[in-house]
Amino acid sequence: MAAFNQEIHVKTIGLIGGMSWESTAEYYRLMNQEVRKRLGPLRSAQLLIHSVDFGPIAQAQHEGRWDDVGALLADSARRLHAAGADAIVLCTNTMHKLAGTIAAATPLPFLHIAAPVGEAAQSQGLRKLGLLATAFTMEQAFLKDKLVQDYGLEIATPDGPTRAEVHRVIYEELCQGIVRDASRLFYQQAIAQLQAQGCDAIVLGCTEISLLVQQGHSPLPLLDTTALHAQAAVDFALQ
Ligand code: GLU
Repeated sequence: MAAFNQEIHVKTIGLIGGMSWESTAEYYRLMNQEVRKRLGPLRSAQLLIHSVDFGPIAQAQHEGRWDDVGALLADSARRLHAAGADAIVLCTNTMHKLAGTIAAATPLPFLHIAAPVGEAAQSQGLRKLGLLATAFTMEQAFLKDKLVQDYGLEIATPDGPTRAEVHRVIYEELCQGIVRDASRLFYQQAIAQLQAQGCDAIVLGCTEISLLVQQGHSPLPLLDTTALHAQAAVDFALQ
Protein backbone atom coordinates (compact mmCIF):
# COMPACT_ATOMS: atom_id res chain seq x y z
CA MET A 1 0.00 0.00 0.00
CA ALA A 2 2.55 2.53 1.18
CA ALA A 3 4.93 1.53 -1.60
CA PHE A 4 2.21 2.13 -4.18
CA ASN A 5 1.36 5.56 -2.81
CA GLN A 6 5.00 6.63 -2.60
CA GLU A 7 5.67 5.52 -6.14
CA ILE A 8 2.62 7.23 -7.58
CA HIS A 9 2.68 10.45 -5.50
CA VAL A 10 -1.07 10.85 -5.70
CA LYS A 11 -3.11 12.08 -2.76
CA THR A 12 -6.55 10.80 -1.81
CA ILE A 13 -9.41 13.29 -2.11
CA GLY A 14 -12.38 12.97 0.23
CA LEU A 15 -15.62 14.04 -1.44
CA ILE A 16 -18.69 15.03 0.55
CA GLY A 17 -21.28 14.10 -2.04
CA GLY A 18 -24.92 13.32 -2.61
CA MET A 19 -26.12 16.94 -2.85
CA SER A 20 -27.27 15.85 -5.28
CA TRP A 21 -25.73 12.57 -6.40
CA GLU A 22 -26.38 13.69 -9.99
CA SER A 23 -23.55 16.20 -9.64
CA THR A 24 -21.35 13.98 -7.45
CA ALA A 25 -21.33 11.50 -10.34
CA GLU A 26 -19.99 14.36 -12.50
CA TYR A 27 -17.18 15.06 -10.00
CA TYR A 28 -16.30 11.36 -10.05
CA ARG A 29 -16.23 11.26 -13.87
CA LEU A 30 -14.37 14.56 -14.30
CA MET A 31 -11.69 13.82 -11.71
CA ASN A 32 -10.99 10.39 -13.17
CA GLN A 33 -10.88 11.77 -16.71
CA GLU A 34 -8.46 14.48 -15.63
CA VAL A 35 -6.11 12.01 -13.92
CA ARG A 36 -6.21 9.79 -16.99
CA LYS A 37 -5.39 12.77 -19.21
CA ARG A 38 -2.46 13.84 -17.05
CA LEU A 39 -0.96 10.50 -15.97
CA GLY A 40 -1.93 7.92 -18.59
CA PRO A 41 -4.72 5.73 -19.92
CA LEU A 42 -5.09 3.35 -16.99
CA ARG A 43 -4.51 5.89 -14.26
CA SER A 44 -7.42 7.05 -12.12
CA ALA A 45 -8.08 9.25 -9.10
CA GLN A 46 -7.78 7.98 -5.53
CA LEU A 47 -11.08 9.00 -4.00
CA LEU A 48 -13.19 8.51 -0.93
CA ILE A 49 -16.82 9.57 -1.28
CA HIS A 50 -19.18 10.02 1.62
CA SER A 51 -22.53 10.43 -0.07
CA VAL A 52 -25.38 11.70 2.08
CA ASP A 53 -29.16 11.38 1.71
CA PHE A 54 -30.15 14.71 0.19
CA GLY A 55 -33.91 14.57 0.90
CA PRO A 56 -33.86 15.47 4.61
CA ILE A 57 -30.98 17.89 4.00
CA ALA A 58 -32.87 19.83 1.30
CA GLN A 59 -35.84 20.00 3.66
CA ALA A 60 -33.63 21.37 6.46
CA GLN A 61 -32.18 23.99 4.07
CA HIS A 62 -35.62 25.25 3.15
CA GLU A 63 -36.65 25.31 6.83
CA GLY A 64 -33.51 27.27 7.76
CA ARG A 65 -32.11 24.51 9.99
CA TRP A 66 -28.54 25.17 8.86
CA ASP A 67 -26.95 24.23 12.20
CA ASP A 68 -28.34 20.70 11.88
CA VAL A 69 -26.96 20.41 8.37
CA GLY A 70 -23.61 21.82 9.50
CA ALA A 71 -23.33 19.16 12.20
CA LEU A 72 -24.16 16.43 9.69
CA LEU A 73 -21.61 17.61 7.11
CA ALA A 74 -18.92 18.13 9.76
CA ASP A 75 -19.50 14.49 10.69
CA SER A 76 -19.13 13.55 7.03
CA ALA A 77 -15.75 15.36 6.91
CA ARG A 78 -14.61 13.53 10.06
CA ARG A 79 -15.53 10.18 8.50
CA LEU A 80 -13.48 11.00 5.41
CA HIS A 81 -10.55 12.05 7.60
CA ALA A 82 -10.77 8.81 9.59
CA ALA A 83 -10.90 6.83 6.33
CA GLY A 84 -7.63 8.37 5.12
CA ALA A 85 -8.53 11.36 2.94
CA ASP A 86 -5.81 13.99 2.43
CA ALA A 87 -8.24 16.84 1.65
CA ILE A 88 -11.96 17.60 1.76
CA VAL A 89 -13.99 18.59 -1.30
CA LEU A 90 -17.60 19.60 -0.69
CA CYS A 91 -19.45 18.88 -3.95
CA THR A 92 -22.04 21.68 -3.73
CA ASN A 93 -21.91 25.47 -3.82
CA THR A 94 -24.86 26.00 -1.51
CA MET A 95 -23.37 24.03 1.35
CA HIS A 96 -20.31 26.28 1.25
CA LYS A 97 -22.53 28.44 3.46
CA LEU A 98 -21.28 25.98 6.10
CA ALA A 99 -17.66 25.92 4.87
CA GLY A 100 -16.30 27.24 8.17
CA THR A 101 -17.97 24.52 10.25
CA ILE A 102 -16.98 21.74 7.86
CA ALA A 103 -13.39 22.96 7.43
CA ALA A 104 -12.96 23.22 11.21
CA ALA A 105 -14.12 19.63 11.73
CA THR A 106 -10.79 18.12 10.62
CA PRO A 107 -7.16 19.27 10.26
CA LEU A 108 -7.31 18.50 6.52
CA PRO A 109 -7.12 21.16 3.80
CA PHE A 110 -10.62 22.21 2.70
CA LEU A 111 -10.58 22.96 -1.04
CA HIS A 112 -13.11 25.81 -1.30
CA ILE A 113 -15.20 25.87 -4.48
CA ALA A 114 -14.83 29.64 -4.97
CA ALA A 115 -11.03 29.52 -5.22
CA PRO A 116 -10.70 27.93 -8.67
CA VAL A 117 -13.57 30.12 -9.93
CA GLY A 118 -11.86 33.31 -8.75
CA GLU A 119 -8.53 32.16 -10.16
CA ALA A 120 -10.06 31.28 -13.55
CA ALA A 121 -11.82 34.67 -13.71
CA GLN A 122 -8.58 36.50 -12.90
CA SER A 123 -6.51 34.55 -15.39
CA GLN A 124 -9.10 35.22 -18.13
CA GLY A 125 -9.22 38.94 -17.28
CA LEU A 126 -12.93 38.80 -16.35
CA ARG A 127 -14.33 41.53 -14.08
CA LYS A 128 -18.10 41.19 -13.73
CA LEU A 129 -19.63 37.72 -13.35
CA GLY A 130 -23.30 36.79 -13.57
CA LEU A 131 -24.22 34.13 -11.01
CA LEU A 132 -26.74 31.34 -11.62
CA ALA A 133 -27.25 29.17 -8.55
CA THR A 134 -29.74 28.23 -5.87
CA ALA A 135 -31.56 31.17 -4.26
CA PHE A 136 -29.41 30.57 -1.16
CA THR A 137 -26.21 31.10 -3.14
CA MET A 138 -27.53 33.98 -5.28
CA GLU A 139 -29.14 35.89 -2.41
CA GLN A 140 -26.80 35.28 0.53
CA ALA A 141 -23.24 36.51 0.89
CA PHE A 142 -21.19 33.36 1.55
CA LEU A 143 -20.01 32.70 -2.02
CA LYS A 144 -20.38 36.15 -3.59
CA ASP A 145 -18.36 37.86 -0.84
CA LYS A 146 -15.47 35.49 -1.32
CA LEU A 147 -15.32 36.24 -5.05
CA VAL A 148 -15.60 39.97 -4.41
CA GLN A 149 -13.19 40.22 -1.48
CA ASP A 150 -10.56 37.63 -2.40
CA TYR A 151 -10.54 38.10 -6.18
CA GLY A 152 -11.75 41.68 -6.74
CA LEU A 153 -14.68 40.57 -8.91
CA GLU A 154 -18.11 42.12 -9.29
CA ILE A 155 -21.07 39.72 -9.05
CA ALA A 156 -24.54 40.20 -10.55
CA THR A 157 -27.65 38.05 -10.18
CA PRO A 158 -30.91 37.93 -12.17
CA ASP A 159 -34.11 39.61 -10.96
CA GLY A 160 -36.30 38.02 -8.26
CA PRO A 161 -38.76 36.02 -10.41
CA THR A 162 -35.88 34.70 -12.52
CA ARG A 163 -33.93 33.66 -9.41
CA ALA A 164 -36.99 31.79 -8.13
CA GLU A 165 -37.35 29.81 -11.36
CA VAL A 166 -33.59 29.08 -11.58
CA HIS A 167 -33.84 27.74 -8.01
CA ARG A 168 -36.96 25.68 -8.75
CA VAL A 169 -35.36 24.01 -11.77
CA ILE A 170 -32.35 22.97 -9.64
CA TYR A 171 -34.40 21.20 -6.96
CA GLU A 172 -37.40 19.98 -8.97
CA GLU A 173 -35.55 18.95 -12.12
CA LEU A 174 -31.73 18.81 -12.17
CA CYS A 175 -31.26 17.24 -8.71
CA GLN A 176 -33.78 14.62 -9.84
CA GLY A 177 -31.96 13.90 -13.11
CA ILE A 178 -34.57 15.73 -15.22
CA VAL A 179 -33.20 17.87 -18.08
CA ARG A 180 -35.84 19.85 -19.99
CA ASP A 181 -35.43 21.96 -23.13
CA ALA A 182 -37.88 24.53 -21.74
CA SER A 183 -35.71 24.98 -18.66
CA ARG A 184 -32.59 25.39 -20.80
CA LEU A 185 -34.40 28.11 -22.72
CA PHE A 186 -35.27 29.81 -19.44
CA TYR A 187 -31.64 29.67 -18.29
CA GLN A 188 -30.57 31.15 -21.64
CA GLN A 189 -32.95 34.05 -21.00
CA ALA A 190 -31.40 34.49 -17.55
CA ILE A 191 -27.96 34.59 -19.18
CA ALA A 192 -29.22 37.24 -21.65
CA GLN A 193 -30.50 39.27 -18.69
CA LEU A 194 -27.06 39.10 -17.03
CA GLN A 195 -25.35 40.02 -20.31
CA ALA A 196 -27.60 43.10 -20.48
CA GLN A 197 -26.37 43.98 -16.96
CA GLY A 198 -22.82 44.13 -18.37
CA CYS A 199 -21.53 40.73 -17.21
CA ASP A 200 -18.60 39.35 -19.18
CA ALA A 201 -19.01 35.73 -18.02
CA ILE A 202 -21.49 33.46 -16.25
CA VAL A 203 -20.74 31.37 -13.15
CA LEU A 204 -22.63 28.08 -13.16
CA GLY A 205 -22.76 28.36 -9.38
CA CYS A 206 -24.63 25.17 -8.70
CA THR A 207 -23.02 21.85 -9.39
CA GLU A 208 -25.96 20.47 -11.42
CA ILE A 209 -26.34 23.34 -13.91
CA SER A 210 -23.77 21.95 -16.35
CA LEU A 211 -26.14 19.01 -16.85
CA LEU A 212 -28.51 21.54 -18.50
CA VAL A 213 -26.35 24.34 -19.90
CA GLN A 214 -23.05 23.93 -21.71
CA GLN A 215 -20.81 26.45 -23.47
CA GLY A 216 -22.61 26.04 -26.82
CA HIS A 217 -25.79 27.39 -25.19
CA SER A 218 -24.28 30.67 -24.00
CA PRO A 219 -22.94 33.76 -25.78
CA LEU A 220 -20.85 34.53 -22.67
CA PRO A 221 -18.00 32.34 -21.41
CA LEU A 222 -19.12 29.92 -18.69
CA LEU A 223 -17.25 29.25 -15.45
CA ASP A 224 -18.56 25.85 -14.39
CA THR A 225 -18.00 25.36 -10.66
CA THR A 226 -18.20 21.55 -10.95
CA ALA A 227 -15.48 21.28 -13.59
CA LEU A 228 -13.25 23.94 -11.98
CA HIS A 229 -13.59 22.40 -8.51
CA ALA A 230 -12.92 18.88 -9.82
CA GLN A 231 -9.84 20.17 -11.63
CA ALA A 232 -8.58 21.97 -8.52
CA ALA A 233 -8.99 18.75 -6.57
CA VAL A 234 -6.88 16.88 -9.12
CA ASP A 235 -4.28 19.67 -9.02
CA PHE A 236 -4.07 19.14 -5.25
CA ALA A 237 -3.92 15.36 -5.56
CA LEU A 238 -1.06 15.45 -8.06
CA GLN A 239 0.95 18.38 -6.74
N1 GLU B 1 -25.64 21.14 -5.90
C1 GLU B 1 -26.24 22.39 -5.70
C2 GLU B 1 -25.24 23.50 -5.47
O1 GLU B 1 -24.14 23.42 -5.98
C3 GLU B 1 -27.53 22.50 -5.00
C4 GLU B 1 -27.90 21.43 -4.04
C5 GLU B 1 -27.58 21.86 -2.64
O2 GLU B 1 -28.34 22.63 -2.09
O3 GLU B 1 -26.54 21.47 -2.13
O4 GLU B 1 -25.52 24.49 -4.87
